[in-house]
Amino acid sequence: MESKYDRPLPEINSLTAPFWEYCKKHELRMQFCRRCKEWIWYPKAICPKCGKNDQMVWERLSGKGSIYSYTVIRQVIDNSESFSKDIPFVIALIELDEGPRIYSNIVGVSYESISIGDRVEVVFEDVTNEITLPKFKKL
Ligand SMILES: [Zn+2]
Repeated sequence: MESKYDRPLPEINSLTAPFWEYCKKHELRMQFCRRCKEWIWYPKAICPKCGKNDQMVWERLSGKGSIYSYTVIRQVIDNSESFSKDIPFVIALIELDEGPRIYSNIVGVSYESISIGDRVEVVFEDVTNEITLPKFKKL
């Protein structure tokens, strides 16, 4: 799978690397503090609530949720021409069933058929050998 993917890719650092490793395995995981019973997103070095990291684990999510809000991208600016062939596309804030919210794309349907509250499920798009993007499709 040589990369023909020409969109900007996420920057991976030591904090976010586990997230992307799990995406490669097609698993949606986020940090969870077992002490506070809180999900942590984006990845952080310490739990924002208790200030510690000794109870933080990468917990698997169901991958199901609903559309909390969304926007239709009809125009791209600056150096994002590589996205222009995808127009129009949807960026949505997904509220996962476990509680945390994540920004992603809704794929597989036209934007006209998307509404707030729609049930969605994660799908994984292997865009390069290194990067798999979590996107969402309607259930
Ligand atoms: Zn905590």
